[in-house]
Amino acid sequence: MKIFNTMTRQKEEFVPIKPNEITMYVCGPTVYNYFHIGNARTFLVFDTIRRYFEYRGYKVKFVQNFTDIDDKMIKRANEENTTVRELGDRYIEEYYKDADGLNIERATVNPRATEYIEEIIKFIQDLIDKGYAYEVDGDVYFSTKKFKEYGKLSGQNLDDLQAGARISVDERKKDPMDFAVWKSEKPGEPSWDSPWGKGRPGWHIECSCMAHKILGETIDIHAGGADLVFPHHENEIAQSEARSGKPFANYWMHSAYLNINNKKMSKSLNNFFTTREILEKYDAEVVRLFMLSAHYRTPLNFSDELLESAKASKERLYNAIGNLERLIDEVKTENLKEEEKAYIENLNSYKGKYIDKMDDDFNTADAIAVIFDLIKDINTNIGVDSSKELIKYCLDLIRELGKPLGILQKSTIEDLNSEIEALIEERQQARKNKNWALADKIRDDLKARGIILEDTPQGVRWKKAE
Ligand code: AMP
Ligand code: ZN
Repeated sequence: MKIFNTMTRQKEEFVPIKPNEITMYVCGPTVYNYFHIGNARTFLVFDTIRRYFEYRGYKVKFVQNFTDIDDKMIKRANEENTTVRELGDRYIEEYYKDADGLNIERATVNPRATEYIEEIIKFIQDLIDKGYAYEVDGDVYFSTKKFKEYGKLSGQNLDDLQAGARISVDERKKDPMDFAVWKSEKPGEPSWDSPWGKGRPGWHIECSCMAHKILGETIDIHAGGADLVFPHHENEIAQSEARSGKPFANYWMHSAYLNINNKKMSKSLNNFFTTREILEKYDAEVVRLFMLSAHYRTPLNFSDELLESAKASKERLYNAIGNLERLIDEVKTENLKEEEKAYIENLNSYKGKYIDKMDDDFNTADAIAVIFDLIKDINTNIGVDSSKELIKYCLDLIRELGKPLGILQKSTIEDLNSEIEALIEERQQARKNKNWALADKIRDDLKARGIILEDTPQGVRWKKAE
């Protein structure tokens, strides 16, 4: 399996630290608001990568943090006249609603920064003891000059970075590129006791600390959106490696932006749609097909046309599934026929192609194209003469290839059942309201689709027309 490593700027063969287990840390949201569909791209991409690892037989320890203390949290809590804690509680709950709505698997652990304050303080103390951090008036800064490899992830050297940073020199820092790991208390802000007085952690330190604590000093994969390469991940590397003397992560992965009118979608530019708004119009599978139709390292422009086209793709895929589900009930032969054996091999060749694409740095766009080729082949070659066993094999294979992408797991039969039940319920309501026209229309529409309603003493029953 090959992964593009931001650190080395090339695709590398993936070799995990332990043979069958992967440790993965993905930077998560600041929980002061609903997350937008741009954030969703990053969450979806790494959810898909995690699912694919699982498909390939790895156990994945997947950690994604919640940043629940920073300037944005404090500002928002003040605006809403609430506490930072309560704000965090509320938006973590909302995060789960939207993430579940997108069919994102729950992380192994979702640590919150404020629950690791004690460990963060210890981490900072270690940095001070080793000479990598210094205290000034209750603030603690990381000394970038001391960490010789500073800039290695983003490919910049400290001199260039300093030239760019000159504008905002903080007198108290030894060097303009030094960054805060601990911030002293300001009036009205939440704070914790520490050896340097009351204060709160800087942003970068939480990820270094929680990754070490939960996953270990060297992890397999550290990931996030492209905007995190500098300074966030650069600073995480400096803190973590200064403290442990070991590589922090063996592979650094960054997903490209979701843009809108070719600009990064972001809260600050106010050019975003919340995930919630989009999920009202399109279901999770449509959103996932849209997001995964581009390679994760290619910027993707948000548009209604692309979402509509993803919706049409989803319908084509489920039409094929629906046909197979109906055929299974219709065909006469149970077991695989001798002449069908070669076709099984043909089906398996699609699985091979799919794995080749996904193994090549998670090329979801091409993997989806393989699923479409598979479905085209099935549509032309499977019919009333096929055996049940072969049709089931086709269905299972489609589902198998859909699973890592978080799609194609539903049954069209269940969908149809619940849709019919809902329409029957609507018709009953219409009858109660003496809206006979609507009640008749629902019955006639269903009849046109081959569904017959029968009013019985036990309630309404339905059956398929012969
Ligand atoms: P934030 O809540 O802003 O810290 O962002 C949470 C995650 O979403 C981070 O990994 C960001 O890199 C990512 N992110 C933010 N905006 C976008 C975007 N427009 N496209 C893709 N990922 C994004
Ligand atoms: Zn982080």
